[in-house]
Amino acid sequence: MRITPLFSGSTGNCTLVSTGSTCILVDVGKAVKHIEQAVRCAGEDMRGISAIIITHEHRDHTTGLKGILKKYDIPVYTTAETWEVIRERTPGLRSPRFREVRPGEVFRIGAALVRAFQIPHDAACPVGYRIEAEGHSFAIATDIGQAQPGWLEALRGCNAVMLECNYNEDLLSKSDKPEFCKERVRSDHGHLSNEECADVVVDLVRGGVEHICLGHMSATSNRPEMARDVVTKRLKAAGLVDGKHYGLTIAERDNVSRSIWL
Ligand SMILES: [Zn+2]
Ligand SMILES: [Zn+2]
Repeated sequence: MRITPLFSGSTGNCTLVSTGSTCILVDVGKAVKHIEQAVRCAGEDMRGISAIIITHEHRDHTTGLKGILKKYDIPVYTTAETWEVIRERTPGLRSPRFREVRPGEVFRIGAALVRAFQIPHDAACPVGYRIEAEGHSFAIATDIGQAQPGWLEALRGCNAVMLECNYNEDLLSKSDKPEFCKERVRSDHGHLSNEECADVVVDLVRGGVEHICLGHMSATSNRPEMARDVVTKRLKAAGLVDGKHYGLTIAERDNVSRSIWL
């Protein structure tokens, strides 16, 4: 299994997961031309994409959907509630081969078994996904307000996890965002801070997750080196060693990141 974060951050999200001849795009939060280019850069072709799976309706996860469906006949998987919001606010959206997904449900896309799991976020019915194939597993969990046993359980035991590491509290406080926006980010249905993410990472690595990819960083309230610093210090304090117990990468916001191979 190969996981390539194409874009990851508050300005757009799209991750390519390929296993055998099955290629899945998780979220499509950039314009179609940028996604086409990124997919090509990762060595694949849009015509070879088996499915698009959507975590929730926010625009940084769905901006490219209308443009993609205009050009390509790709099935779209998401919850009924998410699909309803996307349809209502997107005039002219071509009705694709929509497949409803229920949180907790396991479904098959080609060679992959996919499980949707609920996450706390201020959207209609947001989910993360765990994808298993060829004896390997990967889970993606971004846009999360707080650590909760349900979604943590879905991530445990995966070979690799892409986890949100959204903001640094100081930078968020000092940013010129309106106060209500800052409160939204910090809330139980907003995003995970670097510290909150670090606690989850320690839990996951202790539980056997081998590779952590930090993603969905805020463009204004975080810096990759700050996020890495907080997470690696917390892991070190827990006696966990880079290269021995885990590998850590950071997904780039606006460029195709290095692939994770399982
Ligand atoms: Zn969101
Ligand atoms: Zn987002």
